[in-house]
Amino acid sequence: MPNTNDPGKVVTVTGAVDPSELGPTLTHEHLMIDFTVVYKEPDNPDDASLARAKVNFHNLGWVRFNWVSNFDNLSLDDEALTIREVNFYKRAGGGTIVDATTVGIGRNPEALKRISTATGLNLIMGAGFYVEASHPDDYAARPVDDVAQQMITELTEGVDGTDIRCGIIGELGCSWPWTDAEKKTVEAAIIAQQETGAAILIHPGRNNRAPLEILEFMSAKGSDLSRTIMGHIERTIFDPAILSETAAAGSYLEYDLFGHDSPYYPLAPETYMPGDHQRIDQIASLLDQGYGDRVVLSHDVCSKHRLREFGGHGWDHIISRVGPWMEARGIEKSAFDRMLVDNPARVLVYPS
Ligand SMILES: [Zn+2]
Repeated sequence: MPNTNDPGKVVTVTGAVDPSELGPTLTHEHLMIDFTVVYKEPDNPDDASLARAKVNFHNLGWVRFNWVSNFDNLSLDDEALTIREVNFYKRAGGGTIVDATTVGIGRNPEALKRISTATGLNLIMGAGFYVEASHPDDYAARPVDDVAQQMITELTEGVDGTDIRCGIIGELGCSWPWTDAEKKTVEAAIIAQQETGAAILIHPGRNNRAPLEILEFMSAKGSDLSRTIMGHIERTIFDPAILSETAAAGSYLEYDLFGHDSPYYPLAPETYMPGDHQRIDQIASLLDQGYGDRVVLSHDVCSKHRLREFGGHGWDHIISRVGPWMEARGIEKSAFDRMLVDNPARVLVYPS
Protein backbone atom coordinates (compact mmCIF):
# COMPACT_ATOMS: atom_id res chain seq x y z
CA MET A 1 0.00 0.00 0.00
CA PRO A 2 1.53 3.35 -0.98
CA ASN A 3 1.65 6.07 1.59
CA THR A 4 2.76 9.64 1.57
CA ASN A 5 2.28 10.26 5.22
CA ASP A 6 4.80 9.42 7.97
CA PRO A 7 5.70 5.80 7.19
CA GLY A 8 6.34 3.80 10.36
CA LYS A 9 4.80 6.50 12.58
CA VAL A 10 1.50 7.22 14.30
CA VAL A 11 0.11 10.72 13.80
CA THR A 12 -1.23 12.41 16.95
CA VAL A 13 -2.65 15.92 17.39
CA THR A 14 0.78 17.08 18.52
CA GLY A 15 2.76 15.35 15.76
CA ALA A 16 4.10 11.99 14.60
CA VAL A 17 5.30 9.50 17.22
CA ASP A 18 6.87 6.07 17.18
CA PRO A 19 4.30 3.26 17.76
CA SER A 20 6.38 2.05 20.72
CA GLU A 21 5.44 5.32 22.49
CA LEU A 22 1.67 4.64 22.48
CA GLY A 23 1.37 2.30 25.48
CA PRO A 24 -2.16 1.26 26.52
CA THR A 25 -4.51 2.65 23.85
CA LEU A 26 -8.27 3.19 23.83
CA THR A 27 -9.28 3.04 20.17
CA HIS A 28 -12.72 4.69 20.34
CA GLU A 29 -13.56 7.58 22.66
CA HIS A 30 -15.04 11.08 22.46
CA LEU A 31 -13.23 13.61 24.64
CA MET A 32 -15.28 16.51 23.31
CA ILE A 33 -18.57 15.86 21.49
CA ASP A 34 -21.95 17.29 20.60
CA PHE A 35 -23.89 14.05 20.41
CA THR A 36 -27.35 15.61 20.32
CA VAL A 37 -27.84 14.07 16.86
CA VAL A 38 -29.08 10.94 18.70
CA TYR A 39 -31.47 12.91 20.98
CA LYS A 40 -34.83 11.21 21.45
CA GLU A 41 -37.89 12.64 23.22
CA PRO A 42 -38.46 11.02 26.63
CA ASP A 43 -40.61 7.88 26.35
CA ASN A 44 -42.90 9.19 29.09
CA PRO A 45 -44.40 12.66 28.35
CA ASP A 46 -44.37 13.38 32.10
CA ASP A 47 -40.57 13.44 31.87
CA ALA A 48 -40.46 16.21 29.24
CA SER A 49 -39.00 18.77 31.66
CA LEU A 50 -36.06 16.45 32.33
CA ALA A 51 -34.88 16.70 28.71
CA ARG A 52 -33.43 20.17 29.22
CA ALA A 53 -32.30 19.85 32.84
CA LYS A 54 -28.61 19.92 33.68
CA VAL A 55 -27.39 16.48 34.76
CA ASN A 56 -27.23 16.35 38.55
CA PHE A 57 -27.54 13.79 41.31
CA HIS A 58 -31.31 14.33 41.58
CA ASN A 59 -31.96 13.28 37.97
CA LEU A 60 -28.96 10.98 37.39
CA GLY A 61 -30.93 7.79 38.01
CA TRP A 62 -33.36 8.83 35.26
CA VAL A 63 -30.55 9.98 32.96
CA ARG A 64 -28.81 6.61 33.20
CA PHE A 65 -31.85 4.88 31.67
CA ASN A 66 -32.76 7.76 29.34
CA TRP A 67 -29.26 8.87 28.42
CA VAL A 68 -30.22 9.94 24.87
CA SER A 69 -33.17 12.04 26.14
CA ASN A 70 -31.22 14.75 27.97
CA PHE A 71 -29.38 17.43 25.98
CA ASP A 72 -26.84 18.24 28.68
CA ASN A 73 -25.90 14.57 29.02
CA LEU A 74 -25.11 14.40 25.26
CA SER A 75 -22.74 17.35 25.37
CA LEU A 76 -19.08 17.11 26.38
CA ASP A 77 -17.88 20.68 25.88
CA ASP A 78 -15.91 21.47 29.05
CA GLU A 79 -12.18 21.06 28.45
CA ALA A 80 -11.28 21.37 32.13
CA LEU A 81 -13.72 18.55 32.97
CA THR A 82 -12.29 16.36 30.19
CA ILE A 83 -8.75 16.98 31.42
CA ARG A 84 -9.70 15.96 34.97
CA GLU A 85 -11.44 12.85 33.64
CA VAL A 86 -8.70 11.65 31.24
CA ASN A 87 -6.15 12.16 33.99
CA PHE A 88 -7.73 9.18 35.80
CA TYR A 89 -6.78 7.12 32.73
CA LYS A 90 -3.30 8.62 32.61
CA ARG A 91 -2.68 7.87 36.30
CA ALA A 92 -3.88 4.29 35.80
CA GLY A 93 -1.15 3.83 33.19
CA GLY A 94 -2.96 4.90 30.00
CA GLY A 95 -0.90 6.27 27.14
CA THR A 96 -3.06 6.99 24.10
CA ILE A 97 -6.68 7.71 23.15
CA VAL A 98 -8.26 7.72 19.69
CA ASP A 99 -10.86 10.51 19.58
CA ALA A 100 -13.32 9.13 17.02
CA THR A 101 -15.33 12.36 16.79
CA THR A 102 -15.81 13.16 13.10
CA VAL A 103 -17.42 16.05 11.19
CA GLY A 104 -20.95 16.95 12.32
CA ILE A 105 -20.66 15.85 15.98
CA GLY A 106 -18.40 18.55 17.36
CA ARG A 107 -14.84 17.56 16.44
CA ASN A 108 -12.52 20.15 18.01
CA PRO A 109 -8.84 19.94 16.96
CA GLU A 110 -7.64 22.90 19.05
CA ALA A 111 -9.23 21.53 22.21
CA LEU A 112 -7.75 18.06 21.59
CA LYS A 113 -4.30 19.58 21.19
CA ARG A 114 -4.66 21.55 24.44
CA ILE A 115 -5.91 18.44 26.29
CA SER A 116 -2.97 16.43 24.96
CA THR A 117 -0.50 19.09 26.02
CA ALA A 118 -2.09 19.41 29.48
CA THR A 119 -2.12 15.65 30.17
CA GLY A 120 0.80 14.24 28.20
CA LEU A 121 -1.53 11.69 26.58
CA ASN A 122 -1.19 10.89 22.86
CA LEU A 123 -4.47 11.82 21.20
CA ILE A 124 -5.33 10.65 17.70
CA MET A 125 -8.05 12.54 15.83
CA GLY A 126 -10.47 11.08 13.27
CA ALA A 127 -11.23 12.26 9.71
CA GLY A 128 -14.54 11.77 7.88
CA PHE A 129 -18.26 11.88 8.61
CA TYR A 130 -20.70 10.28 11.07
CA VAL A 131 -24.21 8.93 10.24
CA GLU A 132 -26.42 10.66 7.68
CA ALA A 133 -28.52 12.42 10.35
CA SER A 134 -25.39 14.48 11.20
CA HIS A 135 -24.32 15.31 7.63
CA PRO A 136 -23.94 18.94 6.56
CA ASP A 137 -26.66 20.14 4.14
CA ASP A 138 -24.40 20.07 1.07
CA TYR A 139 -23.07 16.57 1.76
CA ALA A 140 -25.41 14.52 -0.43
CA ALA A 141 -24.44 16.55 -3.52
CA ARG A 142 -20.66 16.26 -3.01
CA PRO A 143 -18.79 13.90 -5.38
CA VAL A 144 -16.91 11.03 -3.73
CA ASP A 145 -13.53 12.38 -4.87
CA ASP A 146 -14.25 15.71 -3.18
CA VAL A 147 -15.01 13.96 0.11
CA ALA A 148 -11.87 11.82 -0.28
CA GLN A 149 -9.79 14.95 -0.89
CA GLN A 150 -11.09 16.50 2.33
CA MET A 151 -10.04 13.39 4.25
CA ILE A 152 -6.60 13.43 2.61
CA THR A 153 -6.13 17.10 3.50
CA GLU A 154 -7.17 16.42 7.11
CA LEU A 155 -4.67 13.52 7.32
CA THR A 156 -1.74 15.22 5.61
CA GLU A 157 -2.14 18.98 6.29
CA GLY A 158 -4.64 19.64 9.05
CA VAL A 159 -8.29 20.13 10.04
CA ASP A 160 -10.41 23.27 9.65
CA GLY A 161 -7.50 25.49 8.58
CA THR A 162 -5.24 24.41 11.46
CA ASP A 163 -2.05 22.37 11.11
CA ILE A 164 -3.47 19.75 13.50
CA ARG A 165 -3.71 16.48 11.58
CA CYS A 166 -5.96 13.47 11.83
CA GLY A 167 -4.27 10.11 12.38
CA ILE A 168 -7.16 7.80 11.46
CA ILE A 169 -10.24 7.88 9.21
CA GLY A 170 -13.40 7.51 11.32
CA GLU A 171 -15.55 6.76 13.05
CA LEU A 172 -17.45 6.62 9.78
CA GLY A 173 -21.17 6.48 10.49
CA CYS A 174 -23.22 3.75 8.80
CA SER A 175 -26.93 3.26 9.59
CA TRP A 176 -29.14 0.21 9.06
CA PRO A 177 -30.24 0.11 6.31
CA TRP A 178 -27.03 1.62 4.99
CA THR A 179 -27.70 4.87 3.11
CA ASP A 180 -26.14 6.00 -0.19
CA ALA A 181 -24.56 9.07 1.41
CA GLU A 182 -22.96 6.87 4.10
CA LYS A 183 -21.68 4.46 1.46
CA LYS A 184 -20.07 7.41 -0.27
CA THR A 185 -18.22 8.23 2.95
CA VAL A 186 -16.77 4.71 3.13
CA GLU A 187 -15.87 4.75 -0.56
CA ALA A 188 -14.10 8.10 -0.07
CA ALA A 189 -12.29 6.67 2.94
CA ILE A 190 -10.93 3.81 0.84
CA ILE A 191 -9.56 6.33 -1.68
CA ALA A 192 -8.00 8.35 1.15
CA GLN A 193 -6.57 5.18 2.68
CA GLN A 194 -5.02 4.12 -0.62
CA GLU A 195 -3.41 7.57 -0.86
CA THR A 196 -2.16 7.86 2.71
CA GLY A 197 -2.12 4.41 4.36
CA ALA A 198 -4.34 5.55 7.28
CA ALA A 199 -6.49 3.03 9.15
CA ILE A 200 -10.30 3.20 8.90
CA LEU A 201 -12.71 2.98 11.89
CA ILE A 202 -16.33 2.03 11.14
CA HIS A 203 -19.55 2.62 13.13
CA PRO A 204 -21.85 -0.10 11.71
CA GLY A 205 -25.65 -0.04 11.61
CA ARG A 206 -27.51 -1.97 14.30
CA ASN A 207 -27.97 -5.35 12.62
CA ASN A 208 -26.08 -8.64 12.93
CA ARG A 209 -25.25 -8.53 9.21
CA ALA A 210 -24.24 -4.85 9.00
CA PRO A 211 -20.49 -5.28 9.70
CA LEU A 212 -20.13 -8.03 7.07
CA GLU A 213 -22.06 -6.01 4.50
CA ILE A 214 -19.65 -3.09 5.01
CA LEU A 215 -16.52 -5.29 5.01
CA GLU A 216 -17.63 -7.04 1.81
CA PHE A 217 -18.24 -3.66 0.17
CA MET A 218 -14.79 -2.47 1.26
CA SER A 219 -13.10 -5.63 0.09
CA ALA A 220 -14.79 -5.39 -3.32
CA LYS A 221 -13.39 -1.85 -3.63
CA GLY A 222 -9.86 -3.14 -3.02
CA SER A 223 -9.48 -2.14 0.63
CA ASP A 224 -7.05 -4.10 2.81
CA LEU A 225 -9.30 -5.15 5.70
CA SER A 226 -6.32 -5.57 8.04
CA ARG A 227 -6.26 -1.73 8.04
CA THR A 228 -9.88 -1.49 9.24
CA ILE A 229 -11.38 -1.48 12.75
CA MET A 230 -15.03 -2.57 12.91
CA GLY A 231 -16.56 -0.79 15.92
CA HIS A 232 -19.43 -1.52 18.31
CA ILE A 233 -19.26 -5.31 17.86
CA GLU A 234 -21.09 -6.10 21.11
CA ARG A 235 -24.21 -4.03 20.38
CA THR A 236 -24.34 -5.24 16.77
CA ILE A 237 -23.55 -8.95 16.55
CA PHE A 238 -25.57 -11.18 18.87
CA ASP A 239 -25.29 -14.37 16.77
CA PRO A 240 -22.08 -16.36 17.51
CA ALA A 241 -21.97 -17.86 13.99
CA ILE A 242 -22.12 -14.40 12.40
CA LEU A 243 -19.46 -13.20 14.85
CA SER A 244 -17.11 -15.96 13.66
CA GLU A 245 -17.93 -15.19 10.03
CA THR A 246 -17.22 -11.49 10.60
CA ALA A 247 -13.95 -12.22 12.41
CA ALA A 248 -12.81 -14.38 9.49
CA ALA A 249 -13.20 -11.40 7.12
CA GLY A 250 -9.96 -10.01 8.57
CA SER A 251 -10.68 -6.61 10.11
CA TYR A 252 -10.01 -5.63 13.72
CA LEU A 253 -13.01 -6.17 16.00
CA GLU A 254 -13.61 -3.38 18.48
CA TYR A 255 -15.33 -4.05 21.82
CA ASP A 256 -15.83 -0.39 22.53
CA LEU A 257 -18.72 -0.04 24.97
CA PHE A 258 -17.01 -1.30 28.14
CA GLY A 259 -18.58 0.26 31.22
CA HIS A 260 -21.89 0.90 29.42
CA ASP A 261 -23.78 -1.31 31.79
CA SER A 262 -27.44 -0.32 31.48
CA PRO A 263 -29.06 -3.17 29.54
CA TYR A 264 -32.02 -1.12 28.21
CA TYR A 265 -30.69 0.37 24.97
CA PRO A 266 -32.90 3.29 23.91
CA LEU A 267 -31.38 3.43 20.42
CA ALA A 268 -32.36 -0.20 19.75
CA PRO A 269 -35.02 -1.31 22.28
CA GLU A 270 -35.62 -4.49 20.26
CA THR A 271 -32.18 -5.67 21.44
CA TYR A 272 -30.19 -4.80 24.56
CA MET A 273 -26.84 -3.42 25.64
CA PRO A 274 -24.65 -6.32 26.81
CA GLY A 275 -22.85 -5.98 30.13
CA ASP A 276 -19.10 -6.23 30.63
CA HIS A 277 -19.38 -9.91 31.60
CA GLN A 278 -20.98 -10.62 28.20
CA ARG A 279 -18.28 -8.61 26.42
CA ILE A 280 -15.66 -10.68 28.22
CA ASP A 281 -17.42 -13.93 27.23
CA GLN A 282 -17.51 -12.90 23.55
CA ILE A 283 -13.87 -11.85 23.61
CA ALA A 284 -12.87 -15.14 25.30
CA SER A 285 -14.59 -17.01 22.47
CA LEU A 286 -12.73 -14.95 19.85
CA LEU A 287 -9.43 -15.64 21.65
CA ASP A 288 -10.26 -19.38 21.62
CA GLN A 289 -10.84 -19.12 17.87
CA GLY A 290 -7.39 -17.59 17.38
CA TYR A 291 -8.33 -13.92 16.92
CA GLY A 292 -6.28 -12.53 19.82
CA ASP A 293 -4.36 -10.29 17.43
CA ARG A 294 -7.57 -8.75 16.06
CA VAL A 295 -9.47 -7.49 19.14
CA VAL A 296 -9.19 -3.89 20.42
CA LEU A 297 -10.91 -2.33 23.46
CA SER A 298 -12.57 0.96 24.36
CA HIS A 299 -15.49 2.66 26.19
CA ASP A 300 -16.95 5.00 23.52
CA VAL A 301 -17.69 7.63 26.17
CA CYS A 302 -20.02 10.17 24.53
CA SER A 303 -22.14 11.40 27.44
CA LYS A 304 -21.70 12.89 30.89
CA HIS A 305 -23.25 10.02 32.81
CA ARG A 306 -20.25 7.82 32.05
CA LEU A 307 -17.73 10.25 33.55
CA ARG A 308 -16.56 9.81 37.13
CA GLU A 309 -17.75 13.27 38.20
CA PHE A 310 -21.26 12.26 37.12
CA GLY A 311 -21.26 8.89 38.86
CA GLY A 312 -19.90 6.95 35.90
CA HIS A 313 -17.14 4.40 35.34
CA GLY A 314 -14.58 6.84 33.90
CA TRP A 315 -11.88 6.41 31.28
CA ASP A 316 -9.70 4.21 33.50
CA HIS A 317 -12.40 1.49 33.71
CA ILE A 318 -10.78 -0.93 31.24
CA ILE A 319 -7.36 -0.68 32.86
CA SER A 320 -8.53 -0.52 36.48
CA ARG A 321 -11.37 -3.06 36.44
CA VAL A 322 -11.81 -4.93 33.14
CA GLY A 323 -8.19 -6.14 32.91
CA PRO A 324 -8.15 -7.68 36.41
CA TRP A 325 -11.66 -9.11 35.84
CA MET A 326 -10.55 -10.76 32.58
CA GLU A 327 -7.56 -12.26 34.37
CA ALA A 328 -9.77 -13.60 37.15
CA ARG A 329 -11.91 -15.23 34.47
CA GLY A 330 -8.97 -16.99 32.84
CA ILE A 331 -7.79 -14.57 30.15
CA GLU A 332 -4.04 -14.22 30.45
CA LYS A 333 -2.52 -10.83 31.15
CA SER A 334 -0.48 -11.16 27.95
CA ALA A 335 -3.70 -11.50 25.92
CA PHE A 336 -5.14 -8.38 27.57
CA ASP A 337 -1.94 -6.44 26.85
CA ARG A 338 -2.07 -7.55 23.23
CA MET A 339 -5.62 -6.14 22.89
CA LEU A 340 -4.81 -2.89 24.71
CA VAL A 341 -1.26 -2.18 23.50
CA ASP A 342 0.02 -4.28 20.59
CA ASN A 343 -3.08 -4.48 18.38
CA PRO A 344 -3.86 -0.74 18.48
CA ALA A 345 -0.21 0.14 17.71
CA ARG A 346 -0.18 -2.26 14.74
CA VAL A 347 -3.33 -0.84 13.16
CA LEU A 348 -2.61 2.84 13.92
CA VAL A 349 0.91 2.94 12.48
CA TYR A 350 1.33 4.09 8.88
CA PRO A 351 2.78 1.27 6.76
CA SER A 352 6.39 1.76 5.81
ZN1 LIG B 1 -18.26 6.62 18.93
